Amino acid sequence: MKITRITATPIRVPRTQQFTSSLGRSLESENAVVEIDTDEGITGLGEVCSIWDRKGRGQAEDINDLLAQTLLGQDPFRIADIHAVMDGLLHRSYPAKAGIDMALYDIVGKTLNTPIYNLLGGLVRDRVLLSHSLSMGEPAQVAEMAASLVAQGYKTVKAKIGQDQKADLATVQAIRNKVGPDVTLRLDANMGWANAKEAVRNIKALEPFDIELVEQPLHSSDLVGLHHVRDHVDTPIMADESVWTPADAMACIRAEAVDVFNVYVAEAGGIYPASQIFAIAEAARLPCIIGSMPELGIGTAAQAHLAFAMRNLGYASDVNGFIYHADDIIHETFQIDDGYLAPPPGPGLGVSLNRDKLEQYRF
Ligand code: MG
Repeated sequence: MKITRITATPIRVPRTQQFTSSLGRSLESENAVVEIDTDEGITGLGEVCSIWDRKGRGQAEDINDLLAQTLLGQDPFRIADIHAVMDGLLHRSYPAKAGIDMALYDIVGKTLNTPIYNLLGGLVRDRVLLSHSLSMGEPAQVAEMAASLVAQGYKTVKAKIGQDQKADLATVQAIRNKVGPDVTLRLDANMGWANAKEAVRNIKALEPFDIELVEQPLHSSDLVGLHHVRDHVDTPIMADESVWTPADAMACIRAEAVDVFNVYVAEAGGIYPASQIFAIAEAARLPCIIGSMPELGIGTAAQAHLAFAMRNLGYASDVNGFIYHADDIIHETFQIDDGYLAPPPGPGLGVSLNRDKLEQYRF
């Protein structure tokens, strides 16, 4: 089998509501849809997802102007080899590489008539526990949102903190009072704190509210600082911005920086390198979760296949980015019951492109 055509189409899809974190405000997602055609009539789908610059349009240029020409004629089953080619051509641009990677797995799964999770070791669970993030806002408002998510079946909610310690305390207290003791509450500082001592002081003040874990308290590059924080608080510390790639995972492990990895298909460069991060973490006896950019339906399907096949998925995951959007570009809907995601059907990713929606949201 040979690749005959690769295209990436940038899209903008509105969010259901404005989302605010330490990183800023978002009203829409700028992603891109990747399509890879083959000489045997099978087309693979992928999605470029990034909240970081460059977003959908810039990453789509990397695909259309650079990767597409080089990968024409390649065998789409040679996923590891194609990653080596992409890494040689293009520094970083992980979301673009991830878009290609998803489409390759989609082609292989469709050709073999099997879901992608069967290419990753097979199912290790029947359902995946989901988490839902809460935008920064007025404490009472955030608590209300948390309560409505719990009413929908969510058992884990994630509050965005890291800008103002007084506001963070008020928000966390309001959420805990509103949802009661049985709901799992995790916190994401998105690198918001200046140094390790500030982070330790803030986390200790928040610990009485029963915090599951604190995500990325310090800058992504501050592994020494993260190690200090991990050593000086009881709450597990999770790396997000510090662990994009398998090499980042090794650096975090060598520095004994964190207790948990938040793994992104988009930031790792695809399902293949994301599964390598899971393997490295498993060897270091660390659990991982899967994080969201947030993806639309194609990217969510890629996350889902990974989530169902990785043994050390240790906590609730964000395999539900489509929920943050007002619309989607696939025909299918994912099955979520009582806060759990059901396995995606396959073959391949198990989703199909809605071309009317692609036209509506392309730019
Ligand atoms: Mg995060």
